[in-house]
Amino acid sequence: MAELKLSESRDLTRIERIGAHSHIRGLGLDSGLEARGVSEGMVGQAPARKAAGVILQMIKEGKIAGRAVLLAGQPGTGKTAIAMGMAKSLGQETPFAMMAGSELFSLEMSKTEALMQAFRKSIGVRIKEETEVIEGEVVEVQIDRPAVSGAASKTGKLTLKTTEMETVYDLGAKMIESLGKEKVQSGDVIAIDKASGKITKLGRSFARSRDYDAVSSHTKFLQCPDGELQKRKEVVHCVTLHEIDVINSRTQGFLALFTGDTGEIRAEVREQIDTKVAEWREEGKAEIVPGVLFIDEVHMLDIECFSFLNRALENDMAPILVVATNRGITTIRGTNYKSPHGIPIDLLDRLLIISTQPYTEDEIRKILDIRCQEEDVEMSEDAKVLLTKIGVEASLRYAIHLITAASLACQKRKGKLVEMEDISRVYQLFLDVKRSTQYLMEYQNQYMF
Ligand code: ATP
Repeated sequence: MAELKLSESRDLTRIERIGAHSHIRGLGLDSGLEARGVSEGMVGQAPARKAAGVILQMIKEGKIAGRAVLLAGQPGTGKTAIAMGMAKSLGQETPFAMMAGSELFSLEMSKTEALMQAFRKSIGVRIKEETEVIEGEVVEVQIDRPAVSGAASKTGKLTLKTTEMETVYDLGAKMIESLGKEKVQSGDVIAIDKASGKITKLGRSFARSRDYDAVSSHTKFLQCPDGELQKRKEVVHCVTLHEIDVINSRTQGFLALFTGDTGEIRAEVREQIDTKVAEWREEGKAEIVPGVLFIDEVHMLDIECFSFLNRALENDMAPILVVATNRGITTIRGTNYKSPHGIPIDLLDRLLIISTQPYTEDEIRKILDIRCQEEDVEMSEDAKVLLTKIGVEASLRYAIHLITAASLACQKRKGKLVEMEDISRVYQLFLDVKRSTQYLMEYQNQYMF
């Protein structure tokens, strides 16, 4: 690996399974870290949101090293939503990776490799790159306008005089556009960013505006303090360690970032990348942005995975680990021991535990309202009342799922507003867990054992 490849990942959109939480934009706290009623897509769960806010404060003050957070509560009480809110509050570039404990048990890679990839997906690297900027005085700008006007089809040339020589540049469409914006004419002193082609006007040359001795005076003006004519400008990119791993892994092309089909990444690749990133950090070219790694169903992990987590938390680049479970005292997988949440005591000891509580009817209604807005679904008041009732009796998540299905049923009958009839139709079509279990019990003789 001669040179680390980064540029290919710049335009990649991160693929995350977050559709169900797209309405969460933060934790919705005020400056005193108290939860606002409905804010940033968040409803209720005030003590848990406040606790998450306090942890964020600790993270910002660098006081959480080596520890992690456990969200404990019944299914559908917003554990994932809170983890997501934490990541969003840390800022746009903060990486957020999410996985379920059961995902680790696949045939494609070892459990620890899958965990390692998840860790590296949640560690961002902010890389500062430099681009060349040329400064000089404009001698002449010449733009050829075709018969039919339009910036894209224009061509042109720009003659620029630096202290050393006059150079003629061919102008691309982008440069012509930025020339127009800046209203550049001969005698102006400009800077051209070589990478983006952007032209910035710095002022008028002394030579023309004050009639000084042409060469010497404008030479002075053009020279940078260190006597160089070509300045360097910083550009910042943010990528995750995992993206750098995949792009540099010889067996996988960068397209694997889209398919998720990355396979195992060799330890040597990661070592080389870590060394390179450490070098960049030392040279001030890169900074680490620890993100949030959320592992749901943490009770599904086994003892091998737990010892991996314990070790990984010691690393100085470790992301904030947030785990969640809806289990009480249960067996630690891979052992005969029972423990709270199925988590070994040594890891439990490192955890700050936040518990989530079931929602009230009013809170369920508000969450459903937000989801309807998010999914652009218009629903009648009656339908919302019915959906809220379903949310209370079946589950919040089931009620959320019915929104899309009911909207499709509404479209089918060419309606504009989702009505009670659409909700009852999809309620009959799709069983919730309770009804499905009841059905299984009634008809169990007809199923295979
Ligand atoms: P599980 O234990 O089954 O993983 P969970 O506790 O992680 O469940 P979520 O997936 O976060 O529950 O919640 C179910 C749905 O309700 C999601 O779409 C989530 O975004 C939404 N939701 C939950 N709590 C809130 C809240 N306080 N405010 C807004 N939306 C919420």
